[in-house]
Amino acid sequence: MKTKPRLFLAVALFCLLAFSSGSKAAAQRSANSSVNSPTGARADLVLTNGRVWLGGDPPSFAEAVAIRGNQIVRAGSAAEIKRLVDERTRVIDLGGKLAAPGFNDAHIHFLSGALGLGEIDLTGSGNVAEMIERIAAYARGNPGKQWITGRGWAYAPFPGGLPTKAYLDALIKDRPVFLQAYDGHSGWANSKALQLAGITRNTIFDGYGEIVRDASGEPTGALKEEAQRLVSRLIPEPARERKLEALRQGMKLAASLGITSIQNAGGSPEELSLYEELLKRGELTMRVSVAFSAGARTTPQEIDRFIALKKQSDLNPQTQITLRAGSVKFVLDGVIESHTAAMIERYSDLPPNHGAPYGELAIPVEIYRDLVARLDKAGFQIYTHAIGDRAAREALKAYEDALEVNKRSNARHRIEHIETVSPEDIPRFGALGVTASMQPIHADPGAAEVWSRAVGVERMRYAFAWQSLLKSGVMLVYSSDWPSAISVDPIRGLHAAVNRRTVAGQPPGGWPRGWAAEQRVSISDALRAYTHAGAYSSFEEAIKGRIAPGMLADIVVFSQDLFKIDPMRIHETRVALTVFDGKVIYQDGMKF
Ligand SMILES: [Zn+2]
Repeated sequence: MKTKPRLFLAVALFCLLAFSSGSKAAAQRSANSSVNSPTGARADLVLTNGRVWLGGDPPSFAEAVAIRGNQIVRAGSAAEIKRLVDERTRVIDLGGKLAAPGFNDAHIHFLSGALGLGEIDLTGSGNVAEMIERIAAYARGNPGKQWITGRGWAYAPFPGGLPTKAYLDALIKDRPVFLQAYDGHSGWANSKALQLAGITRNTIFDGYGEIVRDASGEPTGALKEEAQRLVSRLIPEPARERKLEALRQGMKLAASLGITSIQNAGGSPEELSLYEELLKRGELTMRVSVAFSAGARTTPQEIDRFIALKKQSDLNPQTQITLRAGSVKFVLDGVIESHTAAMIERYSDLPPNHGAPYGELAIPVEIYRDLVARLDKAGFQIYTHAIGDRAAREALKAYEDALEVNKRSNARHRIEHIETVSPEDIPRFGALGVTASMQPIHADPGAAEVWSRAVGVERMRYAFAWQSLLKSGVMLVYSSDWPSAISVDPIRGLHAAVNRRTVAGQPPGGWPRGWAAEQRVSISDALRAYTHAGAYSSFEEAIKGRIAPGMLADIVVFSQDLFKIDPMRIHETRVALTVFDGKVIYQDGMKF
């Protein structure tokens, strides 16, 4: 009966957390659950004879979990949970399988990922010939498509690290083609698309980014950062119905991967309204937290609209457990691979005469600081995309100043990506209560060649510095950044987090050599970053992210036990069952 005192403690702790986090809904839910949990209560759904990871640290397990309505009522031994079963209870025998809280993908661009499911996907194509083949096949299969669009190309296969229009012109001349890099920070256009956009050798672009040119001044077809907008703004916007349909498809994919919560890292009020519509129709099968995109051009009217929508969301604790809007996202720099991330020291692989050897900030720093202070004052949680160590430093500074002026506590501001960081800045995250929101799949060393050359050996020790951040007491939260990622599958994220090696075992040679191997994390730290920490980063740790009485019943069951297998086999794991809000929303062919 070892679990009993632990459960009591857990309930007490959750009540405390709920009240201290100031969320009324959470407090109520927790208070209710502590009334509901005594034995004698019946269950609607029971998962039994498994290894149920409860989500704490150090890892602890139960054999079974009982669910009533959309809540977990108890976790414990199979015998204990059996007492909650009656003739109406659905009982699923897990046959020893591992169960865990559902995955929370805390940084994702869900709508664009979902829309991309119907476009060209160049993800994982290791050479140009393979890309050309996929593009040609798509163009043949979609003769009626006005624009040929897609994404997923990597920088490394191209000579010089960037593609050119010549590859595309050889395939498609009569229709415009626009394909984004896997990270979304660079675009690849054919001549037709450049022509429609009016981009010639005389075009001047002085925004953030670049129209890449060859030695003669001719645009090559590669467009960096906001220069992409010159072409992408011409692509017809999909109709609302098409977007809703894409979201439905995306949710099916998410369910099959055990994802039960997402945090949409940048979106519009219109995007929020799509989720509202799905929620009203009872079709939403994941919990969504929406961050609105903000930047140097955000107008005061737009900020007022964000504030109004946040208020609306805060006032509705019933729907807030499924859909919330209380965050704003900035993009403060670019990416390492195209030398657009803002660095403290020069890039390691640029010639001495290069015009921007440190990269640059995407927003003038005074404007960024001012917006952060205003949005912090209005009660928003702020996300800042910062990939270069200079950008991370500027974000920390802006948060520090804002918190100081506004005297806010528990703001839970976040920095997104943090692919490089100065060791001096690591302790500042914890001191300011800033969450480190990172994507283990971006550290998959399969795509690390161009990245490593640009960063250089000196800075490599703090590449994707998960372990250093964790050790300094920072809340580390994991996500995919889909579709800016080679995979949306959290299992692939776990594999990269625990191994820092590709699924094929690269780099070879084992530890301690390899891709800043000392920054890898344990499986329980990685799982926590995908569950509990995700819940924390949307202020919901009192209601989800662990398996305990009173928590929302969002659960994933795996084909194999992630705690017991050889870590290099993590990527072979499949999701066997997904429970969302107390209902089974995905079950694969496995017998239960
Ligand atoms: Zn992102």
